[in-house]
Amino acid sequence: MEFKNYINGKWVSGRKTFQTINPANEELVADIAHAEVTDVDSAVDAAKKAFDSWRLVPAPIRGEMLFKVGDILKQKKEELSQLLTRDMGKVIAEARGDVQEAIDMAYFMGGEGRRLLGYTAPVEMMNKFGMAVRDPSGIVGLITPWNFPIAVPSWKIFPALVAGNTIIWKPSPETPAVSAAFVEVFELAGVPPGVFNLIMAPGADAGKALVEHPDVRVLSFTGSTSTGRSIAELAGKHNKKLSLEMGGKNAIIVMDDANIELVTDATLWAAFGTTGQRCTAASRLIVQKGIANKVKELLVERTKKLKLGDGLDPQIEIGPVINKVALDRIHSYVQLGQKEGARALTGAAIADVDGKGFFYAPTLFDGVKPGSTLEAEEIFGPVLSIIEVESLEEAIEVNNRSKYGLSTSIFTQDVNRAFTAMRDIFTGLVYINHGTTGAEIQFPFGGVRGTGNGHREAGQAALEVFTEWKSIYVDYSGKLQRAQIDNREE
Ligand code: NAD
Repeated sequence: MEFKNYINGKWVSGRKTFQTINPANEELVADIAHAEVTDVDSAVDAAKKAFDSWRLVPAPIRGEMLFKVGDILKQKKEELSQLLTRDMGKVIAEARGDVQEAIDMAYFMGGEGRRLLGYTAPVEMMNKFGMAVRDPSGIVGLITPWNFPIAVPSWKIFPALVAGNTIIWKPSPETPAVSAAFVEVFELAGVPPGVFNLIMAPGADAGKALVEHPDVRVLSFTGSTSTGRSIAELAGKHNKKLSLEMGGKNAIIVMDDANIELVTDATLWAAFGTTGQRCTAASRLIVQKGIANKVKELLVERTKKLKLGDGLDPQIEIGPVINKVALDRIHSYVQLGQKEGARALTGAAIADVDGKGFFYAPTLFDGVKPGSTLEAEEIFGPVLSIIEVESLEEAIEVNNRSKYGLSTSIFTQDVNRAFTAMRDIFTGLVYINHGTTGAEIQFPFGGVRGTGNGHREAGQAALEVFTEWKSIYVDYSGKLQRAQIDNREE
């Protein structure tokens, strides 16, 4: 089976192909047409042509097209979820959640077709009217990672389309099959040729070509901090609008009054769900000394029982990591952590599941020192570092000094502590009595410090990235009226 690039409403083969394999068993999922830089140029040309008419389609009609995409996604949810699991390994229940997020976003942003709110405000002159409206930004380039291959792109695609932009999407080369299947849904829904183009290629060339293309005015990137920074340098040179969502080092804070069973359930889900490969995955557990031993005991007991294997089996709780490179990277972080003096309570080894695939044993580390590699660096795998603290103030201080700032959660039954945490934690997402994962699409999503560059995805905030404000003044006085000058006594 071969999936192709989608340019100007046509599925286009490449001169070469690359392959996507199932990380649970290393079997071929599909051959993929390898886009060249010239394909990026063709996709941008198509998007440019389509922009002239797409921007003039009334926004409610664009919104209706997104509702149709949502309807088809609902019909195809199981088919897409199965392909998603084969493409990148997450367990099937989570793959369904990934697709569901796109369905939710399709309907949410479809509704924006009848809002896309601007505003009017009083003006200082007689017989004059002022309003601010949103224009589409133009041709946008979207670059996305593999860990949420449907959900994360949907946070960008739906707001971009409803606002009247045209798109070139470059998904991760780790998840091309499910990406192409996602684009097929837009074709089925009748999104016109050139409005939504797909470019798939391994390596950095296609992505760089997109970033550098003079006609691409806006770039929305989600991925690692190092790639994001390199894109930012290039985009800066070309004076482009750029939204970055990057790495995380998220923490769960546990106070000594917490509900310990809830802490255990929530920590296992937040740390080891998606095999720890969520941008919001908990990778630090900052626990107050009085409750630490009990929490560790329960976590070790439950972590050892987690079932690893092929995510298509509904009994499986933990799927593989994305590839061999990731497996080796995670293991080398674990070894470095041990060298730096942390103590593995369980895991800390590459796991054997029928001799196939890329599995890592869920790992708990005790005695992790603030500032050590395990405490500071994003590992992006099933590794949780436990850090003991004396007080709420110390917990918040440890949390906030991370170079990342995506998601933090706190478990406490004390309302004063909860509100202090809500005020003093500096991350883009804060959860009270819930793990670090589980954002809903109607609220802004994104991080501070090294995680982001000041933009947000999802919610109405997403529209800021994909629209430009245009302020319009209508003077119906029939004479020259000078703002800030006339109408003044002095
Ligand atoms: P990555 O940075 O390796 O790749 C992301 C995308 O960038 C891919 O499509 C890749 O092909 C492309 N790319 C790579 N080099 C490029 C270049 N020089 N120019 C243009 N494009 C280039 O990240 P990944 O391994 O796919 O994803 C994992 C990372 O994503 C983790 O760090 C995770 O925290 C982060 N992530 C963040 C969020 C968030 O919202 N903050 C969400 C999901 C994932």
